[in-house]
Amino acid sequence: MSSSREDTQSKLPLKPSSPPYPPAGTPGEILDRRQAETAELRQRLAHADQSLHQSQAELREAHQRLHEALANLARTETRLRETEQRFRLIGEEIPFGIWISDPRGALEYASPSFLELIRMTLDEARGFGWTRRLAPELARLVRQQWEHHARSGQELETEYSIRDPEGRQRTVLTRGKPVRNKPGEITSWVGIHLDITARKRMEMSLAEHVRKLSRSNAELEQFASVVSHDLRAPLTSIGGCAQLLKETLRDRLDADASELLDNIQSSVEHMGRLIKSLLAYARVGKNGLKLAECPTERVLAGVLMDLRAALTETGARITHDPLPIVQADETLLGQLFQNLLENAIKYRSESPPVVHISAKHTERHWMFSVKDNGIGIDPQHFEKIFQIFQRLHRDESRYPGLGVGLATCKKIVEEHGGQIWLESMPGGGSVFHFSLPRP
Ligand code: ADP
Repeated sequence: MSSSREDTQSKLPLKPSSPPYPPAGTPGEILDRRQAETAELRQRLAHADQSLHQSQAELREAHQRLHEALANLARTETRLRETEQRFRLIGEEIPFGIWISDPRGALEYASPSFLELIRMTLDEARGFGWTRRLAPELARLVRQQWEHHARSGQELETEYSIRDPEGRQRTVLTRGKPVRNKPGEITSWVGIHLDITARKRMEMSLAEHVRKLSRSNAELEQFASVVSHDLRAPLTSIGGCAQLLKETLRDRLDADASELLDNIQSSVEHMGRLIKSLLAYARVGKNGLKLAECPTERVLAGVLMDLRAALTETGARITHDPLPIVQADETLLGQLFQNLLENAIKYRSESPPVVHISAKHTERHWMFSVKDNGIGIDPQHFEKIFQIFQRLHRDESRYPGLGVGLATCKKIVEEHGGQIWLESMPGGGSVFHFSLPRP
């Protein structure tokens, strides 16, 4: 537009030269000339008017653009302020600290929560100043670690133990990642600091508990094993003496004395069984599991052989689905099935026992179920029956037992990394389920 105005100006000089006086020529010529000059002046005026219009339009346009630019600037400023406010909020309000460091790991910014934790100002903490809160050896390691990360660009995740000026120890988890420019060079690092002191304390006390628990468990197992072992010899000798007394004094014993000796013998037998099952319980997993591929059907066949007298006596019918090969300690797996089947037969109802064993698998486990048609169990006792020496029946003649069977089952299953539980209702039979991890 401006170029067209320049064109007009170059063609029409602003100041026309003044006409000669008196004007030359006839009045007609003078009139013609005047009319021509007037026409030229009009044309020039029209041009000037047009160029004025153009300038005004350009000015309006420029004004409009300026207005828009100012509005843009205001918007950018607002956005910048919002971003800054958000950043400050993140830095100051959230419970973990934010940090920014240069490519070598020298601290450039740390949010107030971290500065509060180490009791330093940003200027004191800058660079590697904050490492004065670490033990000297650790501070040296941190520098080395940063050298490594600055070289490799590998993300950082580490825990420091920090001591504040009052000597209070805090554990801090630091995570950081490099920020790279387009060519891929590290321009800075950003990360977080998280005070994990409480979590660390909890983990340590938990670990201490676990240590104590496994120590006392081991001691208990050792104790049970030694005691049951050592008790066997005197018990055998008591049983032997009672038998000897009975034989040598056979004719001289009256009925009461003879009954007393019978009682001694049956108590000795009971105690013998108790010691045996206690020993079996204590031995589960004592020397580690001998894990191998066990065809469950073969294990079950062995157990059914051992139980054949009880099966015949009670008229029990035991069926099973196709059973899998599992990774287990074969002896313990046999013991587990034996205990569950013995119970299914022992706690039978009036009708002969009908037991079915099934197995299905999830992604990670094999789930076995042993379902019987026995007397069932009240759900309020579901936990109790897995505890050692806990029995629901005192009637020894009808339901003889020691209360060790299910506790042993639980121990066997848990040693294998599985779980045991049941579904049952009084009078409605029981289903004992247990899981074993799939390799
Ligand atoms: P025990 O059979 O020697 O008493 P267990 O530890 O094997 O010891 O069982 C604990 C208790 O759980 C038993 O006393 C019994 O009351 C109950 N129980 C176990 N299995 C069954 C079952 N299949 N049906 C009903 N009750 C059962």
